[in-house]
Amino acid sequence: MIILDGKEVNSFWKNKIQNEVLQFVEQGLRPPKLAIIKIGHNPASAIYVKRKIESCQQVGINTIFHNFEEIAQPQLIELIEKLNMAEDVDGILVQLPLPISISENQIIQSISPLKDVDGLHPLNIGLLACGQPRFIPATPLGITYLLDYYKLPLTNKSMVIIGRSNIVGRPLFHIFSAPPYNNTVTLAHSKTPHLNALAQHADILMVAIGKPNFINETFIKPGAIVVDVGINRIQIDGKDKVVGDLDFERVKEFCSAITPVPGGVGLTTIAALLQNTLSAYKNNISNGRC
Ligand code: NDP
Repeated sequence: MIILDGKEVNSFWKNKIQNEVLQFVEQGLRPPKLAIIKIGHNPASAIYVKRKIESCQQVGINTIFHNFEEIAQPQLIELIEKLNMAEDVDGILVQLPLPISISENQIIQSISPLKDVDGLHPLNIGLLACGQPRFIPATPLGITYLLDYYKLPLTNKSMVIIGRSNIVGRPLFHIFSAPPYNNTVTLAHSKTPHLNALAQHADILMVAIGKPNFINETFIKPGAIVVDVGINRIQIDGKDKVVGDLDFERVKEFCSAITPVPGGVGLTTIAALLQNTLSAYKNNISNGRC
């Protein structure tokens, strides 16, 4: 059984991106720039944003950070429109979730699809669904980095994804059912009957439901590749702990490969965001926005 190490894969991608950024800068071009917007006091969001900014710095991507305690939706859209127009801003990321007073859909749709490095704009989701991906949402893209890195058998398999959110489950469905993977994919959710029996047929099982330790060995086909996207904060013996959606200890015996939490998918998500920002930058540069 292989434990898929997100740290190692993240380092591999960061080195690759850093080298590429350096080559542009050595040619006298400006470095890439990512604008990050955070609103409110969600502690998990604060940690994610800090990691994203640090990772950008490590690879030579500049950041502008707009950190609001609160902001009204029209002002937020005005800011995004300014960033859409700014020639030296390549990517725009609005950290989710947003306060309930702001419509996530409207904010996502106000970001230029060419700067939507989170890949959540309906146009980018649509391109992915049509098999012509431009920006793939960072978490599913990071999962491809993780699985491809270990050269696992990923094609023409039977696959089950549990969770159908726009940021994880649905894009995973489009990616892994299309070439080059060509898997036969079932997208399951909270209304799916007989979930364990269904999952037991999966050569590849991906879980993104946000339920700590929910998936145990009764869901696993022996020898399956199992990806845990969940990030759940729980208290054990009075201490905060981060766990996934899998009961890792019970499941690991039965898998051929498995992602840990923490140390798995979360880290490759950041690598994918950096790569999307680099792609947006290259597009900008080739259109003369240097
Ligand atoms: P959402 O809450 O948007 O979606 C959860 C999905 O899981 C829904 O489709 C829901 O079904 C389904 N679901 C919930 N309970 C069950 C159940 N008991 N059985 C079957 N399906 C169920 O969550 P996200 O996709 O945003 O996130 C999922 C998890 O992944 C969270 O723990 C989150 O923190 C983590 N995450 C991790 C990231 C990373 O970088 N590693 C990035 C993004 C998320 P229905 O549609 O029917 O309600």
